Amino acid sequence: MKTERELREDICKVGRLVFEKGWVAANDGNITIRIGEDRLLATPTGVSKGMMQPDDLIICDMQGNKVEGRKERTSEINMHLTVYSMRPDIKSVVHAHPPVSTGWATAGRPLNQAILPEVIIGLGCVPLAAYGLPGTQALTDPMLPYIPNYDAIMMANHGAVCYSDEVFKAYFKMETVEHYARIALVAELLGGATVLPRVEVDKLLDSRTRYGVKAKVAGEPGCPVALEDTAGSQEKFEVTRAELVALVEQALAARGIQ
Ligand SMILES: [Zn+2]
Repeated sequence: MKTERELREDICKVGRLVFEKGWVAANDGNITIRIGEDRLLATPTGVSKGMMQPDDLIICDMQGNKVEGRKERTSEINMHLTVYSMRPDIKSVVHAHPPVSTGWATAGRPLNQAILPEVIIGLGCVPLAAYGLPGTQALTDPMLPYIPNYDAIMMANHGAVCYSDEVFKAYFKMETVEHYARIALVAELLGGATVLPRVEVDKLLDSRTRYGVKAKVAGEPGCPVALEDTAGSQEKFEVTRAELVALVEQALAARGIQ
């Protein structure tokens, strides 16, 4: 069990990482940790997440009222409170505006295609909640259907939010989301990603317990979108063993190897 001081330092470390990764500009983003039944340790408003000191953080109750700290609370605290109220398993929420995943969210494109094994195992997919004015209920309402089943959500024309039972794990989920977004973007520029077929998606979802993933989502319809759900062809995944051997022999023969 970490002390409050250690948790304050953890938030500052994650803030620096988020800043150094370029996931926030100016005073964007916010990080919270649930430290008690009715207590939340939170980054304040008006501070660069890359330059915070442990004493800059504030403590709020679960209604979002500040109970301790010099600085003021962020207007985005309600996003965090909504996640905590719906997910008793969650102890930390990280919100940022990572440029590539936010780009997808701004284009109205969810990151939901089954293309990367570690994303399918860890997150299933990353749904996209419709736009809502930041700091109001209009922001959190479109997130409600997703919060129970997903640990990472993109918010249209805004950013992303990830949550877990520990602050670094929540941060790592954000890393996975942004990495996924970057790879998906490159694949898109190169003509479009090759989407994995359902049988491969199911194997990955089945392997979750082996990796200790407690994600709630277990292959909900459309999360992730498998090859069969797209207009794509399954042909490239149906190479038989004999065809594979023939291909290897051909390649070896071309190099003069018997
Ligand atoms: Zn934001």
